[in-house]
Amino acid sequence: MAENLVPTEVKDDVVVSMEYTLTVDGEIVDSSEGDDPLVFLQGHQNIIPGLEKALYGLKVGDSKAVSVEPEEGYGIRDEEEVLEVERKEFPEEIPLEPGVELDLRDDNGETLSATILEIGDELIVLDLNHPLAGKVLNFEVKIVDLREATEEELEHGHVHLDDEFEYDELDEDFDDDFDELDDDDDDKKDNHK
Ligand code: ZN
Repeated sequence: MAENLVPTEVKDDVVVSMEYTLTVDGEIVDSSEGDDPLVFLQGHQNIIPGLEKALYGLKVGDSKAVSVEPEEGYGIRDEEEVLEVERKEFPEEIPLEPGVELDLRDDNGETLSATILEIGDELIVLDLNHPLAGKVLNFEVKIVDLREATEEELEHGHVHLDDEFEYDELDEDFDDDFDELDDDDDDKKDNHK
């Protein structure tokens, strides 16, 4: 790894910079357009499995359309993850409208994301499924750069953007930027302890 080898294609342990657009049910739900490309470490579950799998062998400049089934995307929907909560348990400052996403804390202090499905007079129906659970994810991707990972990146299992600042001084929110396509894997994150 000490040699300065420039990888010629996407393979494990390579840092990939990729432009992407994600379309679900005919609507663009996420895109790197007008923003920096997504930078991630291939082969380390930094992005959703079905997309990562489809990238092997791509070269800089290559574009690909990738369709990812829910099982390899954000999972299938689980109707048991839909629950009713009494309206009076909600703090007043929360805007109660269908589609609003909330962060809840469970009894163990874990944060859960929920989407409001329905508002009743007394009950609010919440969906704990990921908003993209059960959806086919249609990606259009273009590889814009490939480089070798550093030893430290391989050790941590994710990319460090170290040319602008000391990564380790940043708070955890920074890591979330790498997880845009991989919200399900938050608990696998390395917090630089
Ligand atoms: Zn790290």
